[in-house]
Amino acid sequence: MSDDGEIVVVGAGMAGLVAALRLAEAGRRARILAKGFGATHLSGATIDVLGYTPAPVMSPAGALPAFVAEHPDHPYARVGAGVVEEAVGWLKGHLTDPRYVGDLGRNFLLPTAAGVCKPAAVAPQTMAAGDLRGGGPYAIVGLPGLKDFYPSLVAGNLALATTPAGTAVGARAVEVDLSPGGRVDAGPLGYARRFEDPRFRADFAAALQGRLAADEVLGVPAVLGLAGAEQAWEELEARVERPIFEIPTLPPSVPGLRMFTVLMAAARRAGARVVIGAEVVGVETDGYRVRGVWSGTANGRRFYPTAALVLATGGWAAGGLVMDSHRVVREPVLGLPVTGADDGAARFLPGYLDHHPLATAGIAVDRWLRPVDARGAVLYDNVRVAGATLAGAEPWKEKSGDGISVATGYHAAMSVLTEEG
Ligand SMILES: Cc1cc2nc3c(=O)[nH]c(=O)nc-3n(C[C@H](O)[C@H](O)[C@H](O)COP(=O)(O)OP(=O)(O)OC[C@H]3O[C@@H](n4cnc5c(N)ncnc54)[C@H](O)[C@@H]3O)c2cc1C
Repeated sequence: MSDDGEIVVVGAGMAGLVAALRLAEAGRRARILAKGFGATHLSGATIDVLGYTPAPVMSPAGALPAFVAEHPDHPYARVGAGVVEEAVGWLKGHLTDPRYVGDLGRNFLLPTAAGVCKPAAVAPQTMAAGDLRGGGPYAIVGLPGLKDFYPSLVAGNLALATTPAGTAVGARAVEVDLSPGGRVDAGPLGYARRFEDPRFRADFAAALQGRLAADEVLGVPAVLGLAGAEQAWEELEARVERPIFEIPTLPPSVPGLRMFTVLMAAARRAGARVVIGAEVVGVETDGYRVRGVWSGTANGRRFYPTAALVLATGGWAAGGLVMDSHRVVREPVLGLPVTGADDGAARFLPGYLDHHPLATAGIAVDRWLRPVDARGAVLYDNVRVAGATLAGAEPWKEKSGDGISVATGYHAAMSVLTEEG
């Protein structure tokens, strides 16, 4: 980049957090502007890199070279398989409470709150004992009044599964009565706060006394504390004398909040500035460069000059891509062209997971993640695009959501830092 001024990162989801942290730890002044929080607060907080191609993927590292060759417009093809692995390894080093385990060599198969197996390359240590390749037997614990977590549903569906080796998975439900006394906040956050109290953990372990078979591994909803989760998990394992694993709940996601908190703290420690509640509503450009952005807050509009811009505004859900009632699709911050959105395809398809062109719509970029037009010409020299805003992926089908955000957020920062653009 031409000077060492501040770099604005628009968006505080996984892609924006990774880009800002990487820039800040390299000594650049980075500022996150975000109108709100991203999918971190909703997601299960595993780093899913590649789960289906559509065949089930056992090893993302093994499958990525062929996958990028077959999908030349995919974000992974833009950054390269090596960067995906490097970025995920870098991220793992920053995730501390709880620590994360696993790598691209082999996917975990972790249970969801519906009792479905989900492939994930890297996961919180507190979830790893739920790797269904082990086959169980699992005892799935329900907590009184916890909304949207039904241990019998989880256990019933898990018991229908088989491991990749073809053996059956054993699972059953166990309800505990914690007799909390008084009013219970039965959401995931309320329970997470309770689990931070050692006395509550002792009560929980006592309630399970004599109710578990010797070889049963314990599955619990992912509410073992917002702060100090690793310590709470280790202590509980010692109390119940067996491995314990967390199962992500429906939103709000306690593991997602932990991950967000750790990454945000690391970015701030490294010197990044963060403004949440600042929607970027316009940009000032100078030919092929963005000079600065206008943000709108409750206090009015403010201009932030920028040496470079990382656009990490997410996909349809976050407003990184929008469509009006006339079916006009836009990227609202820079007005970038949205690839794959205008081919006149049917609006509705018969099958829920049928391929719809809008699923892969997004911003086309070059290998330095600079936005390009339909002929491949770079639109802005000092802009990088990262995360779910990018064209070419179907994260829900591929199980690649956070993998894409981590790899492209990291590569966007490296691209700015090395001036390769
Ligand atoms: C419920 C749910 C569960 C998921 N579970 C998993 C999972 O288990 N594993 C996995 O790998 N992936 C999962 N994903 C997918 C994954 O979270 C996303 O694909 C990915 O992380 C998107 O990150 P992002 O940073 O690109 O966008 P987002 O997280 O959507 O963040 C976008 C950010 O941009 C901000 N923004 C948007 N427009 C503006 C603007 N004009 N001005 C300022 N700020 C703006 C938003 O406020 C937000 O901060 C899940 C997603 C959801 C919704």
